[in-house]
Amino acid sequence: MTLHNENLINTDDLFIPGLVQQVFNKYKRINGITLTPAERLQLFTDLNALLGEVLLKRALYLLDQWNFITYYTADRFRSIVELSSNRNSAHVVRVVPGVNYCKCRYFQRFVLQLKDTGEKDEDEHELDGGSNQVSFTCEHVLAQCLNQLLSPEPRTQILTLDQFRYLHNDIYED
Ligand SMILES: [Zn+2]
Repeated sequence: MTLHNENLINTDDLFIPGLVQQVFNKYKRINGITLTPAERLQLFTDLNALLGEVLLKRALYLLDQWNFITYYTADRFRSIVELSSNRNSAHVVRVVPGVNYCKCRYFQRFVLQLKDTGEKDEDEHELDGGSNQVSFTCEHVLAQCLNQLLSPEPRTQILTLDQFRYLHNDIYED
């Protein structure tokens, strides 16, 4: 990815979030157009440089092995993406597109830097390296962004407002 110094100097954002956003904007396609294999490779190279190999690989694993479904309100203004494990249907994570937040332990600990209080989730051992680790996001948020970019026809479902609120509240509840 080509970085322009003047853009970096002028931005008021933190570097990583701004650069990650730049990468996703660069590869965003409309009207169902998919990325070419070369573009995909470049996208992964860019993200690898910014976010690290471990996080990117975990997100790609989710893309391969987990199901993604987007829930909408009837007006389609609001959405939630649900990621669920193929192997364990009880293992479900929900995130809000465009919002860098996740309930998972990794996000709470390494993005928000909150103290860890409980047992580790089964899938988090590999990421749980150094205790001083700081991360911009988690594999679920990253996987959702990638899925949005790479999946031309995502599974969707319309929810009633009550159903939607229930899921939305659950995302921010401990
Ligand atoms: Zn997460």
